[in-house]
Amino acid sequence: MEAKKWMEQAEETILHTYNRYQIVLERGQGMYLYDTEGKKYLDFAAGIGVQALGYGNQEYNHALKMQIDKLLHTSNLYYNQPTIEAAEKLCRVSGLDRVFFTNSGTEAIEGAIKAAKKYAYDKDQTTDHEIIAMEHSFHGRSLGALAVTGNAHYREPFEPLPGIVKFAEYNHLESVESLVNDKTCAILMETIQGEGGIYPAQKEFLAGVKKICKEHDILLILDEIQCGMGRTGTMFAWQEYGIKPDIMACAKALGCGIPVGAFLMTKQVADASLKPGDHGTTYGGNPFAGAAVSKVLDIFEEQKILEHVQDISGYLRKRLEELKTEYPCITERRGRGLMQGLELASSVPAGEISAKALQQGLILITAGNNVLRFLPPLVLEKEHVDEMAEILRNVLGEYQP
Ligand SMILES: *Cc1c(COP(=O)(O)O)cnc(C)c1O
Repeated sequence: MEAKKWMEQAEETILHTYNRYQIVLERGQGMYLYDTEGKKYLDFAAGIGVQALGYGNQEYNHALKMQIDKLLHTSNLYYNQPTIEAAEKLCRVSGLDRVFFTNSGTEAIEGAIKAAKKYAYDKDQTTDHEIIAMEHSFHGRSLGALAVTGNAHYREPFEPLPGIVKFAEYNHLESVESLVNDKTCAILMETIQGEGGIYPAQKEFLAGVKKICKEHDILLILDEIQCGMGRTGTMFAWQEYGIKPDIMACAKALGCGIPVGAFLMTKQVADASLKPGDHGTTYGGNPFAGAAVSKVLDIFEEQKILEHVQDISGYLRKRLEELKTEYPCITERRGRGLMQGLELASSVPAGEISAKALQQGLILITAGNNVLRFLPPLVLEKEHVDEMAEILRNVLGEYQP
């Protein structure tokens, strides 16, 4: 069947909540994706930061095939080995002590919020606690995660949303300070804002927020769903900041393609928050997802993924800076490691650039207010950066004044 037919069929059956790019993807290999017409695309989006190992990693695929033949699902009423191994490895690389596996990022945020609320409730037996979240943040689409998402357009139609949430300005410490009171139970933010337009937290800001949290026994929740799992050259982005969250949410690249998320916490928070009966999931942390997470973390170690990201990041940054010098329509480059953004002048719509790049065989996505977002698989090489820059140059050339 032709691509056009597939797309027509999709629109007659799948709820129209996305305006999709006009291709039907069929398979992937390494850094490349192929559509149903056989056209090849260099992938700089990694399925929104999920495919950290690219496509077709044999060791990963083999581990999953073995697990399928052994055991897929048990429920959380029993123990299973792959998930115990995954939990041990995830705690080791994060320096946090307890993990709860979910099926998505938004569920990891829900769990993180519940843990913070329970922690506060167990302290004073009241329920009107407040959460401080950030403007321009993104934490997911379920109602709890939506309540802490700093984008009125996403939130408004679904209000009232659960809980009392106040929004502070990101990277503006006084703005956070002014919202703190004795009902504040948690401060939640992305270590690097992704959807909002690739804004890294400034060191002094995150350190300042951590200090506020410590002084008032408020829990710091970091959303590492997009910026975590090696994307910035450390396992989690906060590990470069000299601070540690009380609770962390993780997903996207955690399973490198298998739907899995997690929230983790310190032992101190675990001992004083969620207890048997307070939280649960049927699928979360099933043996198949556990095997995926466990193998992903093994591969990160064996194939020295973090070192590779540290090596290659400078090159991507250099090529993006060159593009910025060459094309005045690029107003700013922001980001860390392999999570980068190029902000464009308003006369050059980022959505149009990504659509034209796609036609020329480059997959790029957008973010925030007119930003081109770069989230390549972490296994990319210099030649892929060069190929990306070449295609982008062709596309941007049309927009030179
Ligand atoms: C993608 C994302 C989420 C939501 O994850 P889902 O798996 O889509 O529910 C939450 N926070 C951040 C920072 C994200 O990038």
